Amino acid sequence: MMIKADYVLKMDRDFTLIRNGAIAVKDNKIAFVGPEEEAARIYIYDTVIGGQGKVAFPGFVNTHTHAAMVYFRGLADDLPLKVWLEDYIWPAEEKWLSPEFVGDAVELACLEMLKAGTTLYNDMYFYGDAVAASTKKTGMRAVVGAGILDFPGKTAKTGDEYFSNAEEFIRGWIGDELIVPCIAPHAPYTCSPETMKRAKELSVKYRVPMSLHLSETEWEISEIIKRYGKKPVALLESIGVLDESVVAAHCVWVDDEEIAILADRKVGVSHCIESNLKLASGFAPVIKMLKSGVKVTFGTDGAASNNDLNILSEMSTAAKIHKAVSGDPTAVNARQAMLMATRWGAEALGLGGITGSLEEGKAADIVLADLEKPHLLPLYDIYSQIVYSMLPSDIETVIVNGRVVLKEGKLTTAEESEILQTAREWGQKVRPADSQ
Ligand SMILES: [Zn+2]
Repeated sequence: MMIKADYVLKMDRDFTLIRNGAIAVKDNKIAFVGPEEEAARIYIYDTVIGGQGKVAFPGFVNTHTHAAMVYFRGLADDLPLKVWLEDYIWPAEEKWLSPEFVGDAVELACLEMLKAGTTLYNDMYFYGDAVAASTKKTGMRAVVGAGILDFPGKTAKTGDEYFSNAEEFIRGWIGDELIVPCIAPHAPYTCSPETMKRAKELSVKYRVPMSLHLSETEWEISEIIKRYGKKPVALLESIGVLDESVVAAHCVWVDDEEIAILADRKVGVSHCIESNLKLASGFAPVIKMLKSGVKVTFGTDGAASNNDLNILSEMSTAAKIHKAVSGDPTAVNARQAMLMATRWGAEALGLGGITGSLEEGKAADIVLADLEKPHLLPLYDIYSQIVYSMLPSDIETVIVNGRVVLKEGKLTTAEESEILQTAREWGQKVRPADSQ
């Protein structure tokens, strides 16, 4: 298979940009990336995708979401985080969560993400088997977290049950081509230091990533200081949890000392700007983190707090907000934003050797978008165009692990209309009596 495009963004260390480029895909891997004329000399191919007026880049990486929460999209908006979570989301989850609900919801989430150019996401939720199976069905790649809490939930009543479920899930999926299992203790305010240490042990034992929420709200900081006499990052550092296998979502309320710890320990940070804005959690010190060498990536968080799973829009929002907040219009430029959304995302999830850039030997996780659109012309800088002007509807082809999963904007791996109909049917059941 040969993919051709006016612009090919490799997103490698040199930010290589190829005009009139081609990508040769053999089996599930990238065999060649370079000028089209060179590709034509070397390769004989049976399928050509793309051509004039197209741009090819690595699939986006969503480093923090709760995919199944797409079924709670718009259920409870315009509320403070604690009220939103405790009075609306947790009761809805208690009532509705099941493997069927999660499996169906994840298909909708994957459809939404693929249509917006995302090829890899990091999930934190429950019923991991259902999450992984539905993701695999759509052909998408994911790091699927087994959620851990210190209080009883739908999937477990005790700590031991959470951990035995998680271990069974990890054993079941380890070595899969598209799914990487991971351990996901929810947050320092819902998981004790003992629980965090236990999660860490599992992460080390199976060499799988660990993902958690960290320093999301001001309330969390004072609560953790009250309980343990330390700020959340310092607390996790003191119990030996932090290292490069950890992906920490949010990190809004981190001070200079904590930023230095995150950088030193090579913790990947998932910046969820739109969720932070919507829940008024605050502005993460992204510029400081970047300057200190922290690998900051993008997460959408769940659709109940965003309310979509669109990395294009996270990039654009983050690039603009941090300029305004810092008073520096050069901060988080378009190339930086693209890097955070692609290669850095894959690296933060421990998959930098497999995906995140268009380089020979890596898996063919490729997005092809149409540039012949009124909002994309004229074109002077391809990075700016993608970050500030591109819309999900410009995404035409998505290839994951060498398989075309989105063709001419349509899912090839499952019936889109069925996924939408199932979503409508669940919506009818979940719908509160007083909703409009
Ligand atoms: Zn979250």
